[in-house]
Amino acid sequence: MATEPLAGAPSGRPAGSRLFAAGAAAGHAAHLAAYGPVPRHGRDWSLAQELEASGLTGRGGAGFSAWRKFAAVDRARRPARYAGRAGRSVLIANGAEGEPLSFKDATLLHNAPHLVIDGLLAAAEALGAGSLFIYAGAARLPALAAALAERSDARHIALLEAPDAFVAGQSSAVVSFLETGRALPRDVAGRLADGGFQGRPTLVHNVETWAHIALVARYGAGWFRAEGTAEDPGTRLVSVTGDVPSEVVLEVPGGSRLDGVLASAGVAGDAVSAVLVGGYHGRWVRPSGVVLGGGGVPGGGPESGSVRPGAGVVHVLARGRCGLAATARMVEYLAGQSARQCGPCMFGLPALAGAMERLAAGRGGPELVREVGRLSGLVAGRGACHHPDGTVQLVGSALETFADDVRWHLAGQCQETGGAL
Ligand code: SF4
Repeated sequence: MATEPLAGAPSGRPAGSRLFAAGAAAGHAAHLAAYGPVPRHGRDWSLAQELEASGLTGRGGAGFSAWRKFAAVDRARRPARYAGRAGRSVLIANGAEGEPLSFKDATLLHNAPHLVIDGLLAAAEALGAGSLFIYAGAARLPALAAALAERSDARHIALLEAPDAFVAGQSSAVVSFLETGRALPRDVAGRLADGGFQGRPTLVHNVETWAHIALVARYGAGWFRAEGTAEDPGTRLVSVTGDVPSEVVLEVPGGSRLDGVLASAGVAGDAVSAVLVGGYHGRWVRPSGVVLGGGGVPGGGPESGSVRPGAGVVHVLARGRCGLAATARMVEYLAGQSARQCGPCMFGLPALAGAMERLAAGRGGPELVREVGRLSGLVAGRGACHHPDGTVQLVGSALETFADDVRWHLAGQCQETGGAL
């Protein structure tokens, strides 16, 4: 974790790092000293309105509007609110972090578990929620259990051990895990707000999103927007990994320039070949002039000068390292992470991984690039979840960003490593 020391905390509002203001491994007393209690608001105050005004987007990958998800659950619960507990909404803090290049959620849960808990409790009060869960990997659970035991208002929050699998953190997989014990994604068409766990209105947010909700509930939308840009307000955590002096989690304002993020992590810009932004379902970009934009940035692609941060991953590839070989390894991993429910995903991703491996190894001619395109077209949009689409996005961005390397590889050479393939 890399955080700035607090310059001061007037009115209990953190003036340095927002999410790590209470310090390392903060207990409840340190948390309250840094942030103060969640205030009792008047009747005219509403969390939904503050979330809408804040512009907070999800920090787990898809970047949906936090307010829209909140409002959808609020609408869905109203007809059912007289139906007793079974009709009451379900709130889940998702800290599964199946993305191999991300460790920001683990860092947040270790250092600031009480912010996540506060976010859940604030939303539970607003939504009249009946069931609250925190879903996280086995290594995170003891500290979370200790945090829950420290406070009398959180003993009804249940902990769930997330399986260690890439797709286990997808929202629909989290709900499947609750119902069946197996974290298998469901059809993307199903809306959890209308029929999630046991058919109840269900709100799943990444743990970092819940921590920001806790801060919006304390300090309001105006404070939240004091950092970041109009299109991408607030701060976000990013895991900086790869060819870096040391892997680090940074809290950066929305709309940060990617080269600035790299500099904060001690990475010299001229040593960088490319950066994978967003994780294994993300995009390769050349970092110069690129802005880490939020989910609300139109286009969101590198051609628009902005790239969606996805799960907050910034993975550095140094000059002299082959981007095609790195991508081939990732696609092979992703093919192995199929939940094996959908044919195109189950059979298409290994075929795509094989084609990328041959391209990286320089085994094939121009027909190989066409084959990668053909296989990508066969799997895109053909899964019950986003896994095939995310994999195709990674491959497409590699072919674009490393287009020169592709030509060299087809000629049996790698220009980055300077050797014959
Ligand atoms: S697309 Fe793949 S990962 Fe997603 S549900 Fe189908 S088989 Fe599972």
